[in-house]
Amino acid sequence: MNKWLLRGLIALVLLLVIGSGAYWWLVLESGKPQSTYMIDMAQVRHLADSIPGDKPLAIHAEHVAPFSFAGNVVLAGDGWAQVPLMIFAYKLDFPQYIGLIDTGVTPRSAAIMKVTLDREAAQHVVYALKFAKFTVFTHEHMDHIGGLLGSPWVKLEIPRAILSTEQFAHLAEYNEDYHPEFFAGYKPLAYDKYAAIAPGVVLIKAPGHTPGSQMVYVKRADGQEFLFTGDVAWTMRNIDTMRERARLATQFFLHEDRDAVLAELAALNALKKAEPHLHIVPGHDIGVVTNLEKAGLIVKGFHEPANAAPTYTFK
Ligand SMILES: [Zn+2]
Repeated sequence: MNKWLLRGLIALVLLLVIGSGAYWWLVLESGKPQSTYMIDMAQVRHLADSIPGDKPLAIHAEHVAPFSFAGNVVLAGDGWAQVPLMIFAYKLDFPQYIGLIDTGVTPRSAAIMKVTLDREAAQHVVYALKFAKFTVFTHEHMDHIGGLLGSPWVKLEIPRAILSTEQFAHLAEYNEDYHPEFFAGYKPLAYDKYAAIAPGVVLIKAPGHTPGSQMVYVKRADGQEFLFTGDVAWTMRNIDTMRERARLATQFFLHEDRDAVLAELAALNALKKAEPHLHIVPGHDIGVVTNLEKAGLIVKGFHEPANAAPTYTFK
């Protein structure tokens, strides 16, 4: 064989090997966590009972904006077919007041993110924000805090919003709608691992997807328990398989602490097995939320048709 042809062949084989290796590493391989993460449920439950007062009677979900990502972006090795996902906001109905978990997006943040907004759903969130005693966020990404930052009454609502120190420190990185002047004098919540913020509601620190990521545990008055994981897991499949988003997404777009997320997925997997009655709610899993709605455990929409309240209309 001619020496140039041989060199060409070797180069081609090398390219294939390197290329397929890179493809495997970037798209197919999930990896195993080096670190460990643990949720102490006894401690969480103790904290959930630590603040006196009535626990939430009901949990509502607004389906604010549907979107989709390629399978591999959601879970390494899951192919390129699009996976339907949803941006949610949740409302906790206490007997005397309401609290919110995440706020979805507004028309502005939906346009930035190129997702199709359900305007009516987003308007319900804006209306609820006006009256919420507290609003907490699973993390500081636009699809979770955009509803607050884009609210017409944002300045009035910020004092009632509970942002962790880490979320507050990283707001500007992820939100074009962030105006520091609105937060003048704002004191974020500093906590170590767990923080009770209302009867039955406990924050669980879970940095990795973003520095300010946290999960929100909710125990209802009837004893039903929920764990909102935020984007530690976009779907239940991430928890069941303990597989992360592809490196292509986490390394170059999300800039995650991948090892921390893998450790959290392993902990959630163990928790799901140990606590079969705990309703784990991943960040964007439309199937899980729909099933909880069908089971009567989550109410779809912030307003029920029978007592529909006046709402806010985007200009
Ligand atoms: Zn998200």
